[in-house]
Amino acid sequence: MPPEPDSGFDAAALVAGLRTFFRSGTTADIGWRRRQLEQLRSMLSENEARFLDALAQDLHKAPQEGYMTEISGLYEDIAHTLKYLKKWVRPRRVPTPLIAQPAKSYTLPEPLGVVLIIGAWNYPLQLLLSPLVPAIAAGNCAVLKPSELAPATSRLVAELLPRYLDGDAFICVEGAVPETTALLEQRWDHIFYTGGGQVGRIVMAAAAKHLTPVTLELGGKSPCIVADDANIALAARRIAWGKFLNAGQTCIAPDYLLCSKTTADRLLPEIEKSVRAMFGDDPRKSPDYGRIVNSRHAHRLASYLSDGEVVFGGQVDADARYVAPTLLRNVGVESAVMQEEIFGPVLPVVELNDISEAEAFVNEREKPLALYVFTQSDATADHLLARCSSGNACVNDCVMFMANSALPFGGVGASGMGAYHGEHGFRTFSHFKAVMKRRNIFDLSIRYAPFSAWKFKL
Ligand code: NAD
Repeated sequence: MPPEPDSGFDAAALVAGLRTFFRSGTTADIGWRRRQLEQLRSMLSENEARFLDALAQDLHKAPQEGYMTEISGLYEDIAHTLKYLKKWVRPRRVPTPLIAQPAKSYTLPEPLGVVLIIGAWNYPLQLLLSPLVPAIAAGNCAVLKPSELAPATSRLVAELLPRYLDGDAFICVEGAVPETTALLEQRWDHIFYTGGGQVGRIVMAAAAKHLTPVTLELGGKSPCIVADDANIALAARRIAWGKFLNAGQTCIAPDYLLCSKTTADRLLPEIEKSVRAMFGDDPRKSPDYGRIVNSRHAHRLASYLSDGEVVFGGQVDADARYVAPTLLRNVGVESAVMQEEIFGPVLPVVELNDISEAEAFVNEREKPLALYVFTQSDATADHLLARCSSGNACVNDCVMFMANSALPFGGVGASGMGAYHGEHGFRTFSHFKAVMKRRNIFDLSIRYAPFSAWKFKL
């Protein structure tokens, strides 16, 4: 349970304890790091059914979807990290210029220290533990703060973490704003935050007081451009999957479609067909279709329905946290649905006179977390990739770049800063110390006074 205000939760003491342990040097041992990662894997594998049940309670996630989007990626992260950790921790040699010879120059990765990881509710397990993997790999101690809006998952992580991981190094603190605020007042060596930009600003302001570096994994409106030459049936299926997964509550879900009117005429019926194929004629009855995290967000999503013409879906039962997969046409670009991050199963279509207008449309707005382009032309895809800035991008699919641990994941501009996954995560949680080891066999006198004209010329 989240700590009560008078429960004696002492954020300062908690950080001090972790810092003492960090200074003991235990986390520098690569074997210790590997064991923690293996223990994290056991925590997941031995309690898979309980985690899937918690995800179903929080977000009505079907077990298959919960496994695919929250658990399998963690196994992949851990396996990838265990495979490459030995390589990542090695000092990396760089050349040494003549003036500094004889010497050896290299970078030496060192852990940052004690880090804070703040998770979000939409993938409450994955977004909390996926940053923990590189934090462990890099040799840090960590406090995890799960989202209070996914209470079943939060409780389960808090229960299991101390049973599997070294409690001197890793602590889960449940709670909401008061607890997060108390944690943010402490001095951390890094803060890794996933969530909305509003709280992202609070996190960054708190971090600035201690000159603490931050990774901000934020959101935004990710555009999905469908060119006239796209494979429409396949595009529709992949868009429907990426958008309606977790009932649209995915930070990298396609937020809106950009296409010509003729493409919209072909695409929308195909998306509808794909939705029916995945969730049946009444998605409310489908065990595979999610629910909105709470009724407040369901009401917010319902308010978007009047911003355009509903061409499919539109049913809402806010008390039951149900919002049907919905397609909207004829939306005004100034309307709320086109100004705010939707973060739910409502997909508006913006029809352009010509697909060439898509580039300007994207660039006139904040830099998105993801950019999706459906086209069969490499030239069209490469042009948009080169001209439109985004955190991540995928051509002819949605979301799938997440399946590759070798790719960095992170935002740019308003969609965030910093990145993780695989080696990029290891780098995020490490400092690469520059080291020069000089040798004493001779000593060039050129840099020492007294200076003379010939020394200057050299
Ligand atoms: P949220 O409400 O779960 O908040 C995130 C965290 O911030 C929680 O742990 C919460 O306790 C904490 N928090 C909330 N208010 C706070 C305050 N006033 N002071 C300090 N801490 C506070 O999540 P959210 O913000 O509703 O998440 C949705 C947003 O997150 C969307 O914008 C989405 O795009 C983004 N997101 C981004 C990613 C990514 O990886 N880039 C992933 C998921 C979600």
